[in-house]
Amino acid sequence: MRNSNLSDRDLSVLWHPCTQMKDHENLPLIPIKKGKGVWLEDYEGRQYIDAISSWWVNLFGHSNTYINEAIKQQLDRLEHTLFAGFTHEPAITLAERLVNLSPKGLNKCFFADNGSSAVEVALKMSFHYWLNKNAENNSKIKTKFVSLSNSYHGETLGALAVGDVALYKATYGPLLMECITVPSPDCYHRENGVTCEEHSRNMFDHMDKTLSDNADDICAVIVEPLVQCAGNMRMYHSVYLELLRKACDKYEILLIADEVAVGFGRTGKMFACEHSNISPDIMCLSKGLTGGYLALSAVLTTDDIYQAFYDDYLNGTAFLHSHSYTGNPLACAAANATLDIFRRDNTIEKNVELVNALKAETEKFEDHPHISEVRRSGMIVALEMVKDKNNKLAFPWEERRGIEVYKYALSQGVLLRPLGDVIYFMPPYIVTPDQIKKITNVAFQGITNATI
Ligand SMILES: *Cc1c(COP(=O)(O)O)cnc(C)c1O
Repeated sequence: MRNSNLSDRDLSVLWHPCTQMKDHENLPLIPIKKGKGVWLEDYEGRQYIDAISSWWVNLFGHSNTYINEAIKQQLDRLEHTLFAGFTHEPAITLAERLVNLSPKGLNKCFFADNGSSAVEVALKMSFHYWLNKNAENNSKIKTKFVSLSNSYHGETLGALAVGDVALYKATYGPLLMECITVPSPDCYHRENGVTCEEHSRNMFDHMDKTLSDNADDICAVIVEPLVQCAGNMRMYHSVYLELLRKACDKYEILLIADEVAVGFGRTGKMFACEHSNISPDIMCLSKGLTGGYLALSAVLTTDDIYQAFYDDYLNGTAFLHSHSYTGNPLACAAANATLDIFRRDNTIEKNVELVNALKAETEKFEDHPHISEVRRSGMIVALEMVKDKNNKLAFPWEERRGIEVYKYALSQGVLLRPLGDVIYFMPPYIVTPDQIKKITNVAFQGITNATI
């Protein structure tokens, strides 16, 4: 079997995500036959290092023996059951473990089956919380959500509405609920001589004013803690979350932490909120949750929120949200195996060595004439590729230079999939320092070629 056979069959029936299909008239589609560890292999035996963890989901490599075994064992016991009125041990164990691992106070776990659904759950739950809570005193109904500019929370309509990446959102604008967007605290455009901490702290004034002016209307603020991943891996300082937690308490607004991308060790701690030592009222998890194996998401929340729905059925306060595959046992088994590996291998501590290797190997980009910033957060490094380093002038987007880096890296056996002109590394945690060296060297040459 050749790559081209499969590619032809694919292109006659398939429609791929986040893709202008016409691009594949020039850009080859790569059929993957198998994966092992950091490696993906196509039908012609070419191998690629998965430097972006297959869209940020894979934590411990492809075809991980331990996770494979856990899924196989679960498969012979129970593949799926409805999750209303019924339950199963893998889901119970997983919920107990997530409650124990997550920031203090998040004591209840609601399952869904992908990141966008988790965000929808979080939005509906926070709206409904205030509805139930304020029912007695006839207060005004709160209907507004606040989010940051350049944020990303998924592709379903509610998630798009609280997001702000124009590329994904603008087209659907007429369909979306109205939200309040506050300027992001991201540090890329801070003024010379201002530290990231000062900048993020200063940017909080916008948030504070918005919350104080609209407190009666706002159900919740939703943020991606520390890293706006789909928004070009822009980063901000942890002080912002500390200030946000205090302000949400002060103005009686819920705080939703969307840790779909940054959860499970990406920023160097288990959850990014830990850098600020805060507990959100609601936390969304997905992507790395199953080690990159199966679609699952979890929404963790507080006893207070849970209790606001807990009443006699006839009072109509229940949260009647569901998905067919809620809490799928195979996905829960994969997630439990993933958490076993975190504990067994002391992953968060062990990753420090990889974080250091990533730092050392990306120092070479600091002086690259077309890299205006090297951003790092734990196991994430992002490089901003620009036309003019001195004034951070971007290349015209129509030139699509990021794709040139992508193509070059593939030719060298490395899978990088840039976000526009931002090249980033988000490798699985089983990557070796030598592989990190290879990935970054390939990226360096690819960027140099693409910026001539
Ligand atoms: C990927 C992502 C989502 C959406 O998750 P899907 O599983 O792709 O629907 C939501 N929020 C953040 C922060 C993400 O990175």
